[in-house]
Amino acid sequence: MSKCCGNRNAEVKNADPCAPPEPACGGAGDKAKDTNCPFAWFGNMVEHCHAYATAEKEKGTKIVGICCEYTPRELIMAAGAVPVCLCGGDADMIPAAEEQLPATLCPLVKSTFGYSVQEANPFLEMADLLVAETTCDGKKKMYELLAQARPMYVLELPQKPDDPDALQHWVLELEKLKDHLQEQFRTKISTVKIREAIKTMNRERALRRRLAELMKSAEPPLTGRELLDMKSIISCMPADFEQYRKAIDGLPGRQIDPPASSRTRVLLTGVPLAHGAERVMDIIEQHGGLVVCQENCTGLKPLLEDVEPDAQDPIHALAEKYFHLPCSVMTKNDRRLESIATLARDYNAHCIIELIWQACLTYDVESHFVRQFAERELGIPYLRIETDYSPSDSARIAMRVEALFETIRGKGD
Ligand code: SF4
Ligand code: SF4
Repeated sequence: MSKCCGNRNAEVKNADPCAPPEPACGGAGDKAKDTNCPFAWFGNMVEHCHAYATAEKEKGTKIVGICCEYTPRELIMAAGAVPVCLCGGDADMIPAAEEQLPATLCPLVKSTFGYSVQEANPFLEMADLLVAETTCDGKKKMYELLAQARPMYVLELPQKPDDPDALQHWVLELEKLKDHLQEQFRTKISTVKIREAIKTMNRERALRRRLAELMKSAEPPLTGRELLDMKSIISCMPADFEQYRKAIDGLPGRQIDPPASSRTRVLLTGVPLAHGAERVMDIIEQHGGLVVCQENCTGLKPLLEDVEPDAQDPIHALAEKYFHLPCSVMTKNDRRLESIATLARDYNAHCIIELIWQACLTYDVESHFVRQFAERELGIPYLRIETDYSPSDSARIAMRVEALFETIRGKGD
């Protein structure tokens, strides 16, 4: 198979954080190359998802909006519906949200809500149901406002992951979601359909894991930002599967510029980087870093564990997988530290950078443990970056990132 777009040595220039990068082998509007080049394909991700969701809606398929990786897409798919991630990454949506929400709320929550106020997210507008969850207080209360205008189902997520009765509670919550979906969409969610959905999601997780594993190489063939862009807000679209395979087969051997050997390898942890909110990733990669591993929810965190499709009780198996997700809303959340240790070793990270959206209290408080763990247990330098969606502090962040990388390079001399 030919290399990506037939160019082994395609150059990858990192972009201005205020302007998304052009894929190296075809711009976002390059229709001719769109299906041949994974970068161009995912550069048009929103457009592809919109065409897919619109076609499904016209066929009578239900669209379900979700906002968190704890929500099991498999159950929604088994109900014959299409789950779409609605997390907002656009700063322009925030002023409208602040007319109802406090300004001192996380930008991800405000942006997601702002899309609703402005009726600016076509996926939200076509959604037949929203499935939300009790994670952080900001999201939980924002959902109450969303529910004033939109059909909403809220999963109650227990927050002590190691308690046996907590898992049992979560199993019952998923059973209740199943009942609600059946009733709402007048359908039957059979065990066979759940097993099929589990297999499909496992396939997608496996493909995305293999893609991410390309970053373990001493000379990764793509940047962290390029990897971040290679996913869709709708899971399991068949055309995406083909593009993941093309990227896995075609990218090895590709050179990035500047080469990985001259950059500091970064493990990025903390909050998710919703589509449109990739600024910090770009700053890191423009100032001497290469994000070889994203531990967060827009990276590897939801991909690390699959679900056993042949488990005797597939809902119980789903509950276990999702309950293991190490989010800071859990107490205690030691699994996250274990995961960071494994990933830092496997991806040969030189440092850990933690991104925290302003007013994200759970990740903010937990950053204390992550720093302590990184510096004392792993012996890896750690940097905490707290910001929001505004570019006003980009220069300050760049200076702090550069200083970190200089220190690391200095120690290596
Ligand atoms: S960080 Fe936590 S609350 Fe946010 S999407 Fe991930 S699991 Fe959900
Ligand atoms: S980043 Fe933090 S505050 Fe924002 S939605 Fe996620 S968990 Fe909640």
